Amino acid sequence: MSEHQYTHLEINVSNIRHNLRYFRSFLSANSKLLVLVKAYGYGHGIGEFSRILEDNGVDYLAVAFPGEGVAIREAGVRLPVIVLSSGMEHYPLLIRNRLEPSLPCLEAFQRFVREASALGQHDYPVHIKLDTGMHRLGFEKAELEALTEELPLARSVRIASVFSHFVASGDPAHDDFTRTQIARFETLSSFLSDHLDYKPIRHLLNSPGIERFAKEAGYDMARLGIGIYGMSYVDRSRLRPTAYLKTPVLQVKYVRQGETVGYARAGRVTVPAAKIATLAIGYADGVNRHLSGGKACFSVNGHRAPTIGNICMDMCMLDVTGIEVKPGDMVTVFGDDPTIFELADILGTIPYEILTSVAFRVPRIYKM
Ligand SMILES: *Cc1c(COP(=O)(O)O)cnc(C)c1O
Repeated sequence: MSEHQYTHLEINVSNIRHNLRYFRSFLSANSKLLVLVKAYGYGHGIGEFSRILEDNGVDYLAVAFPGEGVAIREAGVRLPVIVLSSGMEHYPLLIRNRLEPSLPCLEAFQRFVREASALGQHDYPVHIKLDTGMHRLGFEKAELEALTEELPLARSVRIASVFSHFVASGDPAHDDFTRTQIARFETLSSFLSDHLDYKPIRHLLNSPGIERFAKEAGYDMARLGIGIYGMSYVDRSRLRPTAYLKTPVLQVKYVRQGETVGYARAGRVTVPAAKIATLAIGYADGVNRHLSGGKACFSVNGHRAPTIGNICMDMCMLDVTGIEVKPGDMVTVFGDDPTIFELADILGTIPYEILTSVAFRVPRIYKM
């Protein structure tokens, strides 16, 4: 029996260490490693989780929004933190919390330089994002030239790093384009670097990039995201799941043929006596409602049992006919079986969305 008989997301810390080792093995010994903990650590939590990463020798963290960075500081983590998509009005907040902005354009750079200067900063670390093909955020050549002209006067900041983001580094069909991105990054980052009297960290690799392009584009640092959470684009069997969504059975009942289970009479019983287990988890916890009606199976005492009827807000029902189960037994919604990959396939989405959909109200429990 599991120790926690309530709905929770169990984070397996030794599997996180295992996955970290796997990705480190592709990098040169002096390469730095940044781990992405945006979106609440891809669902794994932010404060305590960041502390675990700090304890495991990670060099940098990155988040999407300022609030996520503040949560890292409140947890007492001292690692440098890059904030990837902060609005300009948040720049003073970043500075007060020693959070480092990613600056994607000249306006952002100028604004940050002014804010840092107004707060008496000198050499405040900032990160310059280059657009090498994603066409989402980042400097292109002409704007980068304009930036270099402003550098001599921008004493309040120091360019700690320059980076760009791959579009499709996990997909061999796009390897030519990935190499185009590498070439563009080399040109643009060298151009910027040549206008500085110090060497900024250069970084380009994301998770699939680490597995597939570390030799060609290792540079000084790699940014590990989905990989640390168990996703490989090369060989999934080398990695381990890190998040296990678990929930207790609240009640077990037998339902006669012709009766229905749940809202809208969607779960029709077609056998003489179906055994139904009601679970303490619903779509408000991140169990996507499209998994209703037997689209997915969860694992119960070593067996797979399909959902029956519609998933409710806080509960859902499984058809556990033929399975030994009683109230209090813990059910795995995802983890080893089913995996996040299986649920992503059923839902026509990617594993990232399965992980980041686990609701805030679900406690994260770290298993060391
Ligand atoms: C999210 C993100 C990553 C990590 O991507 P993965 O596919 O999860 O490895 C790296 N760099 C940037 C800029 C990102 O936004």
